[in-house]
Amino acid sequence: PSEPDVEALQHADVADLLPRPSAESDKYRRGVVGIVAGSARYPGAAVLAVAGALSGGAGAVRYAGPATDAVIARFPETLVTAGPPAEAGRVQAWVIGPGLGDGSEARQALVDVLSSDVPVLVDADGLRLLDPQAVRARRAETLLTPHAGEAAALLGLSREEVEASRLSAVRALADRFGATALLKGSTTLVADGTRAIRVNPTGTPWLATAGSGDVLAGLTGSLLAAGMNARDAASVGAYLHGLAARALGSAPITSLGVAEELRRVWLDVS
Ligand code: AMP
Ligand code: MG
Repeated sequence: PSEPDVEALQHADVADLLPRPSAESDKYRRGVVGIVAGSARYPGAAVLAVAGALSGGAGAVRYAGPATDAVIARFPETLVTAGPPAEAGRVQAWVIGPGLGDGSEARQALVDVLSSDVPVLVDADGLRLLDPQAVRARRAETLLTPHAGEAAALLGLSREEVEASRLSAVRALADRFGATALLKGSTTLVADGTRAIRVNPTGTPWLATAGSGDVLAGLTGSLLAAGMNARDAASVGAYLHGLAARALGSAPITSLGVAEELRRVWLDVS
């Protein structure tokens, strides 16, 4: 097959796409993003996904997972739901997967959010539990955000095969799941079934650090909740995430530090 078309977002495109509150806005109209992440083993993933979501422009972040205490201790502005996602109040987009594990509650939570009629971002452990048919059957958009290893598992390829042809891999994911796919790595790619593949021009290898993908998932989910379509949310999320990491300079960074820097980057871009 011929190589697919590629394009890169520019600063001005991102500024145009960023959600901005208007005089009529209230927190619900600005969008509520629901986060299902973390576990007893990985409570930090919940904190990092919420941190990213709080910096993504939605009006509220609702957490529905098992790490409520850790989330509230760090971010008291988070709304929490004690029960499963199906019992959560209004949510305009879901993020599911970072640090979630593969227990029965995680599986049920994935069924719950996929059966909703709002956009869903699936990352990390959520990808391991994913059934292509359940995604294809959805009416709202689904966004998958694997790194190369997770993409390989989804496609039945080796990691080396994915790394050797990243453009075809991201397009294959979009086709197979009838979804939008964001393939992470040294260059991040975003594909849907038909349009040009977006290549992210920002980023730095310092992002190769534990938890940075969790921040990206929360951030991008927040953009979805604020009303952006999956392709734009994914490409703007990757753009801001890379810019925030770059702004921290050529030195080791922390994922929480990236989430905090996002708000300063937002000021520069808009
Ligand atoms: P995860 O693997 O889920 O923790 O996500 C890692 C994040 O860091 C993604 O946003 C990747 O695109 C980014 N990343 C990882 N390695 C590199 C690299 N070598 N250069 C730029 N970004 C990277
Ligand atoms: Mg990850």
